[in-house]
Formats: sequence, C-alpha cells, structure tokens
Amino acid sequence: MCIHDKLNEILNAIPGHVKLVAVSKTKPAEDILAVYREGHKIFGENKAQELIQKQPSLPDDIQWHFIGHLQRNKVKYLVPFVKLIHGVDSYRLLREINKEAAKADRVIDCLLQFHIASEETKFGLDYHEAEEILESEDFKTFQNVRVCGVMGMATFTEDEIKIRREFKNLKQIFDKLKKSYFPSHEYFREISAGMSNDYPIAIEEGSTIIRVGSLIFGERNYG
Ligand SMILES: *Cc1c(COP(=O)(O)O)cnc(C)c1O
Repeated sequence: MCIHDKLNEILNAIPGHVKLVAVSKTKPAEDILAVYREGHKIFGENKAQELIQKQPSLPDDIQWHFIGHLQRNKVKYLVPFVKLIHGVDSYRLLREINKEAAKADRVIDCLLQFHIASEETKFGLDYHEAEEILESEDFKTFQNVRVCGVMGMATFTEDEIKIRREFKNLKQIFDKLKKSYFPSHEYFREISAGMSNDYPIAIEEGSTIIRVGSLIFGERNYG
C-alpha cells in the first residue's frame, strides 16, 4: 500500500474530533514530504536533536509535536517552533519550557505524561506528582505554558484487555484533573494515547490525539 492509501485508511477510520500525529522519527525528509503533500500537516518526533535537524528544511506550516522524553537543555531549541510538547514529566521541565517560551514570547501547549504501563522503562508522572505540580505556587505564575491535557503509552503487549485498562486509567486521570484544576478551561481537553498497534482501543477509551508512525511510514530501521 502506498503512503496515500495508508494515511487515508487511518484518517477514514478515526472520528473527526481525533487528531492524527504522523510520527516521522528515523524517517527522511522525503518521506515526510510525501505525507505532507497529501495535505497532512501534523508530525511527531521523539528526539530533540533529530527534530532540530529536520525542521529547517521542511515546510513552515508543519505543526511539530514533540512526543519523546525531553531533556531540559534541549528545550530552548524547540521552543521557537514546536506546536505541542506531549511528554512533560517533571516540574523542572515545565518550568524550563515556561522560561524559554517567555524569552521567545510564545505560549507553548503541553501535555502531562502519565505512567500507565506496567513496564519500568516508560516515563511519566503518577497522579500525586501531577497534583504537586498543579498545586505549586510557581505553577500559577507560569504565563508561557498551557497545560492542555494528558499523554500516556500503554504496555507493549497483545493483551487487549490490559491495554484497554491502561487507557481507561489515563481517561480517569484526565477526568479527575479536569474536575479539580481545569473545570472551566476549554483548552484542557486533550488525551494523547494510541499508536500503530493500539490506536483503535485508545479512541474507544477517549483518546483525542493518536500518534501513529510505522503504520504510515513503514517499519523503522534502527541500523
Ligand atoms: C514511536 C512513537 C510512536 C509511534 O509508534 P508506532 O508504533 O510506530 O506507531 C508513538 N508515540 C511515541 C511516544 C513514540 O515514541
């Protein structure tokens, strides 16, 4: 199947309110352009270095989402152009984004990443840590970040019941945060969940942003 068909198969299968982030990590600019020429403008990368290298040579109206673990010393390079940072997993990272965004005179949309999988290796907050961030005095002074919702990655498994349970957990976290901290904040509405192998389940469980790579671009080669 060509990129046109793969992209459209996904776009046709997802509800209108769900955004598709085409995850282009490890893929060359020409692959990204092939998807871009289909009219798709939202792309995701998980390595700051790689994104910084690719971005200048690609069209300006691409909305770049940063979906990986972000080191604080890389924030300043992304802040001039990034559209949404999915993986905010510490207070210090959020503070750094706010500081650099202020210098760039921008307000950066962010998602809090939660640890919902059973694997040790996946980054993310637990509910208590998120509460600490949102209740801190400093957070209330942050003018240059906007927390728009949550992000999570399910365990990599074939066990659909387990995956569904983890996505349900993320939705419950979202609902609790919404009620406690963002009741009248229209912008707090995003749940970034679901990848090539599990996005249909994620959407059934409330995802509003799916991050799909290999299903669009083909398997990745990590040479
Ligand atoms: C790589 C990656 C994806 C996409 O994975 P696929 O299985 O290729 O769809 C989604 N989210 C994050 C955080 C990733 O690192």
